[in-house]
Amino acid sequence: MTDKRDYYEVLGVARDAEQADIKRAFRKLARDHHPDVNQHDPEAESRFKELAEAYEVLSSPDSRAAYDRYGFDGLRGRPLTDFEHMPFDDLFSVFFGGGAFGDVLRQAAGGSWGAAGTASEPGDDVAVAVEITLEEAAFGVTRTVSVEAPLVCERCQGSGAAPGTERTPCTQCGGSGRIRRVSSMGGFGQFIQTGTCDACAGRGTVVAEPCDECHGSGRVRGSRDVTVEIPAGIDDGQRLRIGGEGGAPGPGGRAGDLYVLITVQPDPRFVRDGHDLIHSIDLTMVQAALGETVEVPTIDGEPIELKLSPGTQPGDTRVFRGRGVPALRGRGRGALKVVINVVVPRHLDREQRELLERFAQLTSEENYQPEDGFFDRVRAAFRS
Ligand SMILES: [Zn+2]
Ligand SMILES: [Zn+2]
Repeated sequence: MTDKRDYYEVLGVARDAEQADIKRAFRKLARDHHPDVNQHDPEAESRFKELAEAYEVLSSPDSRAAYDRYGFDGLRGRPLTDFEHMPFDDLFSVFFGGGAFGDVLRQAAGGSWGAAGTASEPGDDVAVAVEITLEEAAFGVTRTVSVEAPLVCERCQGSGAAPGTERTPCTQCGGSGRIRRVSSMGGFGQFIQTGTCDACAGRGTVVAEPCDECHGSGRVRGSRDVTVEIPAGIDDGQRLRIGGEGGAPGPGGRAGDLYVLITVQPDPRFVRDGHDLIHSIDLTMVQAALGETVEVPTIDGEPIELKLSPGTQPGDTRVFRGRGVPALRGRGRGALKVVINVVVPRHLDREQRELLERFAQLTSEENYQPEDGFFDRVRAAFRS
């Protein structure tokens, strides 16, 4: 048995690693050995068994303490799961779900996928939707949102114990949150299984006298206001994660996170393209031909005067750098792009028709010379 690798080395964690780190390392490594990616790989099988064994020992405070002190010798006679002689397929179902057998073995492995050890119940993650204008998306905005999620019970400060009393170590499991049982596994012989302690729900501590406000859960229903800083440059469909602003946890656990889902209202003036804004301008064919000064709206508020020269073509684009949307948590702004659209009239009134016919006649003559005020009349007749 001396050819065994050190359990900490197997899991790739430090000797003083927290339980949470051990669990995380195990879960990550166990996934890497998933049967879907390691079919019929005998090496994967032995590595997985090694992992399972290391995790079982290190995830239990008392077997870990024994291992720390005496190494593998310290585990002799301890009721550990015999992963070595377990069928590989069934072993996988321990960790990756499936069947009653998997359920039992999942417990045997310390409930690695679910309620585990003395890990306290974390708070729920909560999402809220916030709708903002394009200007708010561009320059950032502060919003207060109402978050409907469990709150920390004020009466017991979240401990679940009645004021003046304290949580005490669970006598059923000795504070480990887990208990061991011998059970028959049919064709697989006898197994020692480790399960979540029913007396303390795996927390390792119990309350002698539960708080009458939260009935021992440490949480109460409710909602609260959270102020959210929405950063400049955010885009439609993006989300912000605000750590610890979600639901309150069970006693000793971590609060959940708040996710803020951003919707940006459509703006009739601009189409957003990344950091750029696109504004389109409709010109009459006369304005395009003769030139025109137009006002271009900006997201900053102050419009820009844009002089379009005679002979402006449909699709012509003017670019105003630095007048677009600021980069999210970055520097600089995109551009405002103005795209020209030329509208050809679908219907002409009598005067417009006469003027266009006169224009056609003039341009067909060799040295055409329009009469005084001709183009002023055209301009007036085709006013957009
Ligand atoms: Zn309470
Ligand atoms: Zn217990």
